[in-house]
Formats: sequence, structure tokens, C-alpha cells
Amino acid sequence: MNDKRKGRMKMQYRRDRSGRDLSVLGFGCMRFTRKGNGLDLEKAEKELMAAYRAGVNYYDTAYIYPGSEVLLGTVLARNGIREKVYIATKLPQYMISSLAGVEKYFREQLSRLQTDYVDYYLMHHMTDAAQWERLQKAGIEQWIADKKKEGAIRNIGFSYHGNTENFLKILEAYDWDFCQIQYNYLDETAQAGKAGLLAAAEKGIPVVIMEPLRGGKLVNGLPQEAKKAIAENPRGWTAAEWGLRWLYNQPEVTVVLSGMNSEEMVAENVRTASEALPGTMTEQDFGFLEKIKESIRAGEKVGCTGCRYCMPCPKGVDIPGIFRCYNAMYTEGKRDARFQFAQTVGLTKAPAFATQCIGCGKCEKHCPQEIPIREKLKEADRALRPLPYRIGIDVARAFLFRKSKAAKGDA
Ligand code: SF4
Ligand code: SF4
Repeated sequence: MNDKRKGRMKMQYRRDRSGRDLSVLGFGCMRFTRKGNGLDLEKAEKELMAAYRAGVNYYDTAYIYPGSEVLLGTVLARNGIREKVYIATKLPQYMISSLAGVEKYFREQLSRLQTDYVDYYLMHHMTDAAQWERLQKAGIEQWIADKKKEGAIRNIGFSYHGNTENFLKILEAYDWDFCQIQYNYLDETAQAGKAGLLAAAEKGIPVVIMEPLRGGKLVNGLPQEAKKAIAENPRGWTAAEWGLRWLYNQPEVTVVLSGMNSEEMVAENVRTASEALPGTMTEQDFGFLEKIKESIRAGEKVGCTGCRYCMPCPKGVDIPGIFRCYNAMYTEGKRDARFQFAQTVGLTKAPAFATQCIGCGKCEKHCPQEIPIREKLKEADRALRPLPYRIGIDVARAFLFRKSKAAKGDA
């Protein structure tokens, strides 16, 4: 990568298995701002290019992120920087039944990304060693070997959401070039966890981190007392900075992905990535984070990260939306949370209430946090919609519906 640019921006880099420098801050292309029915290309381009100019060279997308591969491919091509960055994208392995399917998805991804090679290709959302065994039986190892030989895939890895035990099995089952795990100061022992991170590092496998701020929970979703404690801490770090610095402090972490959707966020994250060196946090800092963790856990009712893997629900239930509001009742106050609930779940045109659940269980099969969604939805609904609120929302819905019908008639 360009040394001049690297020096000017002071971005830190850590190495992959082949000795390539990867920026410690990676651009997660999952949370671009929406516009109309698609993504806001112009806004995303400004954010992507701001990150590029600051030295970010790792861009992570996936087949299933709506519009993301096409947007990334467009921005890289029209700015002439495809060769200057690394693209990571993911095979929807859970949708695959044959090698022909693998090839079809891969070809489509190359076309969407306007490229003839992928730098880092991942088996998406692995949760169990049996998934890799199924792919092996289909002949994926030969397919990977062929693609590597052709130069169409430079590095092969997997992204992971299951338990530690299965992570270790998958890690041992193949000669991976890298892997990607959910990891943050609240999830040190969840999923692959610290044990998985250290095991990968021991084998010399770079680890890319996703959900470093737990889908924003370690920033906007913090309880008031935690926000106040962070504001008063003499370090002067923001809530996001605490989360990111905790990760950069660990030399076993290679790249930390952040789903940046504003230029301000890019600037703040770039600054943190430039300043936070490994092994520089103190015992006092760790003690402070322990207190923050205690205050979060005291409030949280459901450990939902908002990843949306459980969606769509066939009955239209807004599972992550309901859990976010349910948790907010205990971290931001009941009134605010019920207001948020009314706005985001209660007053949408297509109703999305927990009571629409028919208990099919489809969502629970996809939840990486293993949340008993059906049971928790009932609990959340009781808390969020006591009778007076239920009546109030019904009245507001009826009113809004009548109003919108009239407006349509007027037009
Ligand atoms: S169990 Fe309920 S919430 Fe989950 S997918 Fe089925 S209907 Fe939707
Ligand atoms: S319920 Fe589970 S799958 Fe659904 S958004 Fe929350 S963490 Fe993700």
C-alpha cells in the first residue's frame, strides 16, 4: 500500500498472513444511508473516499447486504482506486446446495463489484462446524484452490457467530488465511470470544472484528449513568473511542470494522485508529470499563445486537425493533422507550407487533445470540404495551389511517 499516504494520515496497519499491510480500521459497508428504495450513493461515496484518503484500505461487504456490493464496486471503479484497496466480501454459504451455486454467486459478486478478483473472500455467517463439513463434501476446497490459482481469490476466510467450541473446530478444519468474529468489550466471552481470538492468533491467522460497538449499543444505547461516567472520565475519550481502543489495545486484533455512515464518524474513527497503539490501556482504564459493563448489564433485558439475521419474520414482527425499545426502557427510561416504540413499531403502516407472532420459530434458528425470541417477544410486548398504551396506539393508528386515506383521495 502507498507509504506516502500511510505516513501522512498516520493510520496504523497490521499485517495479514502474506505480509500485506491492512489498515486497523476497516470500512463496514453494511450501514450506508438509505435513499428512496436504495442507498444514497453520493453520500456513501463521500464517506468511502474520506476513509480512503485517511489510509483505510480494507472494505467489507457481503452478497446479502442490499445494494452494498454494487455501490462499493461503483465507487471504487469511478474513482479509479480498485487496485489500491482490499475488498472483502462473503459467500452466502447457507443458500448453497452445490458448487454450481457457489460459482454462480461468485461470478455475480465479481460483476457487482466491477472486478475480476476478491482480496478477502469469506464463508458468511458460519455458526457450526457441520456447515463447513457440508461445503467440504460439496467440493469447496478444490473450488477455492482453483480460484486461488487463477488469482480470483487472494485470501479465504469465514465470518462467525456460533459458540466458542464450534469456532475452534472450524479454525482447525482448514488452512484459513483469516477469519472474522463478533467481539467487543461486552462480548468478551460470547461467540468466538477472547478464547477464539487468541487461538486464531496462535495459528498466525489474522482476525477481523465485526460489531465492535455492538451495533451502536456501546454508544447511543448506553445507560445514562454510563454516558455520564464516560463524559467525566479524565481520558476524554468518546464512548465509541472506548470501544475501539479496547480492541486496538489487543495485538491479536488485525482489522476493526466500523459501519460508518457520516463523514464525522469517519473522521473520529480515523483519529482513534491513528492514535490507539496496542498495549497502551492501563489497569485503571480496564477497571473503568468493568464499571461501564456492570451498568449496561444491569439494565439490559435482551442481548440483541440488532444484526437482523432473524428477519424478515413471515408475520411482519419487527423483532430487533421491539427488543431495542424493550432494552431502552431500562437504559433510557420507560416513557422515551415507549415513545420510540410507538414511532418505530406501533405506527408503521404495516403493523409489526409481537402479538402477530405465530410461534413458527424460524427467527430463533438464525439468531447468533441464541435469544429465545418467542418468549422474549411476549415479555417485551407486555412491558411496552400496557393497556392504556395499547389503546392509545390503536386510536393513533386509526386516526393516521383515516388521514392518509383522505390525503390519497385529495390527490
Ligand atoms: S417465531 Fe414469531 S417472530 Fe419468529 S419468525 Fe415466527 S412468527 Fe416471526
Ligand atoms: S433477535 Fe437475534 S438475530 Fe434478531 S436482531 Fe437480535 S440478535 Fe440479531
